Parts: sequence; C-alpha cells; structure tokens
Amino acid sequence: MAVFRADLHIHSCLSPCGDLSSSPRAVARVAKRAGMDLAALTDHNTARNAPAFDTACRNEGITPLFGIEVTTWEEVHALVIFPSASTAWNAGEEIYERLSSDSFDAESFGDQVWVNEHEEIEGTLEKLLILGATDLSLDDLGPWCRQRGGLFIPAHIDRTAFGILGQLGFLPEGPFDGVECTKPLPVETTGPWTVIASSDAHHPDHIGRRHLEFDGSAPSFDDLCYALGAGDVRPVF
Ligand SMILES: [Zn+2]
Ligand SMILES: [Zn+2]
Repeated sequence: MAVFRADLHIHSCLSPCGDLSSSPRAVARVAKRAGMDLAALTDHNTARNAPAFDTACRNEGITPLFGIEVTTWEEVHALVIFPSASTAWNAGEEIYERLSSDSFDAESFGDQVWVNEHEEIEGTLEKLLILGATDLSLDDLGPWCRQRGGLFIPAHIDRTAFGILGQLGFLPEGPFDGVECTKPLPVETTGPWTVIASSDAHHPDHIGRRHLEFDGSAPSFDDLCYALGAGDVRPVF
C-alpha cells in the first residue's frame, strides 16, 4: 500500500476566466509539481479538453481523470468524473447539448477555447459555460453519471454560490460518491457521505491547494473508487 494524492476539481482554459496559461499541458505539469498522483480536469459543462489532458498527464507520469462540473437544473454544481477521456467527451457533448444557451459576451468573459496536445486552439464554444443550467436535476444526474461508469460528487457544498447547501439549504438523499467541502464541516452537515477536498483551481497556481489522500496499491481510478466507497480518504484543506 502507498499513499496517493488526488486533486479532483481543476479547470482549464476552456472555463471562462481561464486563459492559455491554464492549458491542459500546463495543468498536468503543475499538478505533477504540486505532488498530485491523480488529477481530474473538470471544466464547466464540457469535456472538450479531455483528450489533450490525457496525453499531457501521461507525459508527466500522473494519472488523468476526466470530469465535468455540471450545472444542474437547480443551479447546483456537481462533479461527474470518468476514467476514460472518450467517455467524458461523449458525456460532455450531451451535457453541453442540454445546457441553456445564454447570450455570451466574449469581451467580459474571455474566449472558451479547447486545444489539442500541442496547445493549438481547436475551436471555441458558443454557449456561455458558467451561466445558465442544464435540464438535468440533481436526482437525474446521479443515475445518469453511474450509467456511464462515473463518480458523482456535489461540488463545494458549503459555498453560497452554486453549492448544494447555499442553493437548496439542505443535503438531498443522494447517493453520492463523496461531497466536496471547502473547509471542515460538522458531520451533521455532511451526513453519511465521504468528505473530499479539491482545489477548484481556475489558475494553475491553485492546483493542489486543497486535495485528498488515499491509500491504495496504485494511483488508479479503481483504487480511488474503492477508497471513496470505504470512506477511507483524507481531505487536506
Ligand atoms: Zn463550481
Ligand atoms: Zn469549479
């Protein structure tokens, strides 16, 4: 057994307010430097940077995970995290399709670009990824995620903006593979769920500032799932 570190919530240049300093390659490089063994790219409502992140992490020798920070119908942010870039890509295309289309002013929000492994821009996305919501409710999203083999983790539950507690005032029944908190919370608040910490970095400097540790035989998605299921992870705030 060994100890592994994971940051399960990182944004790239595809999230508005990120720029090319947050390319998938830069994210992978900094995650490695910050001591992470696994890193999940979780842009808002898309996974178009998953293939570039896959290559970048393999070059750095860390395990890539591929997520989406989905905005549910209730305007709650929830992470869905997959072991394969292609699964995440397909899931991301469906989520983007289901995202309401708000008018989008690139002057104020910046471009939402997706890139290839050489950091060349492949395209931009038209819908504003951080405003609006998908038509999936929290109750829909859990089964939707599990059908695709993913982990389902409500994000920053204690944050006023887009956190479950802020939006709903209570934690729904779940089930969840974990709940992400930005600080230690009383167990009456987090219920029976495994508490995780992750950076929610929108800039590479923030990667790993919060993360989790788990014991396993390999820095793999399966070992992470096992540790989450056993409630055997240590959030580092
Ligand atoms: Zn969020
Ligand atoms: Zn986020």
